[in-house]
Amino acid sequence: MDFEKIKKQENKYYMPTFNRANICFTHGKGNRLYDTAGKEYVDFTAGIAVNCLGYGYPPLVEAVASQAQKLIHISNLYYNEPQSQLAEALIESSIFSRVFFSNSGAEANECAIKLARKYYVKKGIPNKHRILCAVDSFHGRTLATCTATGQDKYSAPFAPLPEGFSHVPYNDFAALKDALTDDVGAVMLEPIQGESGVVCASYDYLVNVYALCKQKGVLLILDEVQTGVGRTGKRYCFEHYGIQPDIVTLAKGLAGGVPIGATLARGEVAESFAYGDHGSTFGGNPLACAAALAVNEKISDPDFIARVESAGQRLQDRLMELRKYKFVADVRGKGLMRGLQLSDKVKNAEVIGRMREKGFLVASAGRNTLRFVPPLTITEEEIDAMAKQLGEIFANTNV
Ligand SMILES: *Cc1c(COP(=O)(O)O)cnc(C)c1O
Repeated sequence: MDFEKIKKQENKYYMPTFNRANICFTHGKGNRLYDTAGKEYVDFTAGIAVNCLGYGYPPLVEAVASQAQKLIHISNLYYNEPQSQLAEALIESSIFSRVFFSNSGAEANECAIKLARKYYVKKGIPNKHRILCAVDSFHGRTLATCTATGQDKYSAPFAPLPEGFSHVPYNDFAALKDALTDDVGAVMLEPIQGESGVVCASYDYLVNVYALCKQKGVLLILDEVQTGVGRTGKRYCFEHYGIQPDIVTLAKGLAGGVPIGATLARGEVAESFAYGDHGSTFGGNPLACAAALAVNEKISDPDFIARVESAGQRLQDRLMELRKYKFVADVRGKGLMRGLQLSDKVKNAEVIGRMREKGFLVASAGRNTLRFVPPLTITEEEIDAMAKQLGEIFANTNV
């Protein structure tokens, strides 16, 4: 494979929306990736929290290959066995009563927003249309979800934007309570803000928001596109808080790398859509659902989830040891979703570049943060090796 040719093609033909690293991967195995020069990398990015079972995981590969031979796509004009099996598997293992499948996190959130609005239309109070979101949140790139996203840079150039979204500072319960005007029908939050730097909702905050929503009859939508599917050491991150959202959205890890999104709802809101209200050509197609069923089988194993928790704790411990360097400003997260924030003196992009040279892939997130979202199969040895390398880079950083 000719890397220079690939770069030239991309520069000429692809819209320049991505700031790509100077690297192209050809294949992966386990928790490792290999580039066009044959160099090996231990992957702490997992396609941004997507490749939860790493690369070439046999049951997932087998599920995709055998489904591809039978039927890749069939449309939602007809019944589809992998889709109904996945719906049953997700609902029976959860507090939710119905699901809708789409193809991405943004679409799962669009569906959640439409479902919430339709719920109030059906109840005869359509003016309860406002969705209250958090500053620095990230919910996707479609017009509605980039408006829900609490960061102007994602939405301002695309005005006019859809109406009915407001933003309050995250982890500030008083601010949220103040903003809960009568037209607010739903509060939409990430239990951990991933894109803006792995910032966890505090326990008290989320529990109080849940109680307030319940008291006021306002829906709580949790965007678990990044935190779901076992990422934080529980199937859903909200389990850490002992709360029960009305709607939850999933995507990234759900089918281990095959595109899929899911919107799950419980109670009356789950019954809001009627025939024709929503749809998707690709959503829930047999290939994606067969992949998600293979992932779900693994995620349903309590030993596997317990190992995510313990591996996450080890990653946290190793990163905490690096706090001896003054420029390590904070270490935070849950399970295998961790962030290490650097002071302004050290640029995260430089650290990421040096880690890559040493054969470790780390992602960035907002606020000058290194983000660690490895495959959930990452080993203790790989965690230790990564942290050791990061420590060596820090030891050689003079600020
Ligand atoms: C990645 C992400 C999205 C957007 O998902 P896409 O599949 O890129 O549309 C939405 N919400 C959260 C919390 C995410 O991390």
